[in-house]
Amino acid sequence: TLPVHVIGGGLAGSEAAWQIAEAGVPVVLHEMRPVRGTDAHQTDRLAELVCSNSFRADDWTGNAVGLLHAEMRRLGSIILACGDAHQVPAGGALAVDRDGFAGAVTARLEAHPLVTIAREEVAGLPPADWDSVVVATGPLTSPALSDAILGLTGEGELSFFDAIAPIVHLESIDMDVAWRQSRYDKEGPGGDAAAYINCPMDKAQYDAFIDALLAGPKSEFKDWEHVPYFDGCLPIEVMAERGRETLRHGPMKPVGLTNEHNPQEKAWAVVQLRQDNALGTLWNMVGFQTKLKHAAQADIFRTIPGLEKAVFARLGGLHRNTFLNSPRLLDGSLRLKVDPRLRFAGQVTGVEGYVESAAVGLLAGRFAAAERLGRPAVAPPPTTALGALVGHITGGHIEAGKGSFQPMNINYGLLPPLEPPKHGEDGKRLPHKERGRAKKRLMGERALRDLDAWLAGAMALAAAE
Ligand code: FAD
Repeated sequence: TLPVHVIGGGLAGSEAAWQIAEAGVPVVLHEMRPVRGTDAHQTDRLAELVCSNSFRADDWTGNAVGLLHAEMRRLGSIILACGDAHQVPAGGALAVDRDGFAGAVTARLEAHPLVTIAREEVAGLPPADWDSVVVATGPLTSPALSDAILGLTGEGELSFFDAIAPIVHLESIDMDVAWRQSRYDKEGPGGDAAAYINCPMDKAQYDAFIDALLAGPKSEFKDWEHVPYFDGCLPIEVMAERGRETLRHGPMKPVGLTNEHNPQEKAWAVVQLRQDNALGTLWNMVGFQTKLKHAAQADIFRTIPGLEKAVFARLGGLHRNTFLNSPRLLDGSLRLKVDPRLRFAGQVTGVEGYVESAAVGLLAGRFAAAERLGRPAVAPPPTTALGALVGHITGGHIEAGKGSFQPMNINYGLLPPLEPPKHGEDGKRLPHKERGRAKKRLMGERALRDLDAWLAGAMALAAAE
């Protein structure tokens, strides 16, 4: 059998190579370190963690990333297996000894009879005789390769300042304070004159908000983050520094909006949220890209009327990143539509985080192996965390204006909602908090059940050959 080629031995590439080899298909893993380094990696190990040593919460009954862990364990993930073997105490989180972890991933891949590791940079499009390639080169993809991919996709940019605004769970917005309306009731593309959620501020609230933005702690940029930002996506605190009224004339302008809860009084400023996913469960804060520290963001944004109890699916940030406009460029099995021999995995597909990157590597590896073996490359159902993640990057997301596709961590808002039970086993009405907990557990149970059925189907297919 011809090998599948995987470019990049990070979180995603290591997982993809493992899955391909475990399916019985030979694989060549091309990793440029130590021949060529990146601005963040320090060693020549595969699956090096460039920053924190945490894979975040491990509880599948109460946390979306924990559910992703559970699903990946069921599918024989090397990243989770080595993470579990090199755990350090971290409460409910799965944190690892970074050297032990990366050393174990490297050793297991080196020892696998179907894996060949080539320490070299792939500095351009892969040779024509590599008929199946997984590109998993991460946020710091070497320029020679990212330029070549850029040429192929015809997109304007691939590496840029990733200015992201916070995203809020709809159910945590207080709609007794906020209201739905488009500016001047103007109908959007879908004919919707109430496309936005609006949060009103009076003058005192606005003044206090500006003071908090100016005083709040900001993240400092690392040396390699020298990319300038465009005027069109300035962080809100930079806008506030330019003048106290700048935001009120920019993203927070109150014009064309009438507060249905208080029609007599004109708001002094308005924060708008826009639908962020097709399910309508997640909403982003329009124009609120920021480099405030995460804790400060949560505190300051919860002073906005209507967002006092906001639960954030993602907080804002600004950093250099490299990712594809995946909903436009990739097909359902992560192949580049214009050149299907290339399949993408990891952060470069527009997911965020170690676990999510490895998860997309796992799926890309399985898809590539299935294709080589002449089997269908079918994604897990959208009710699973894995299926939801691949749905987000290959088209679940709505195109709501320019630059709308943004990297995302796994979160429950990406999965189809589920009605939580109103009453406990004792027949008593459950308080709001407990209903939320019950809902997450039910979503987790649904995901694992559906994943098992999907896996059984794939195994039956293989056994029938
Ligand atoms: P990587 O793990 O970066 O792997 C890509 C690999 O490809 C690298 O080994 C690289 O050397 C190699 N490569 C690149 N170009 C080529 C080429 N042309 N030929 C051959 N090999 C090549 N996520 C978290 O969950 N927690 C964090 O704390 C965190 N901190 C981060 C800090 C920084 C500075 C950055 C940039 C990202 C951070 N992330 C974090 C986000 C993300 O989870 C990680 O970047 C993660 O490593 C992405 O996995 P990946 O497999 O897509 O890429």
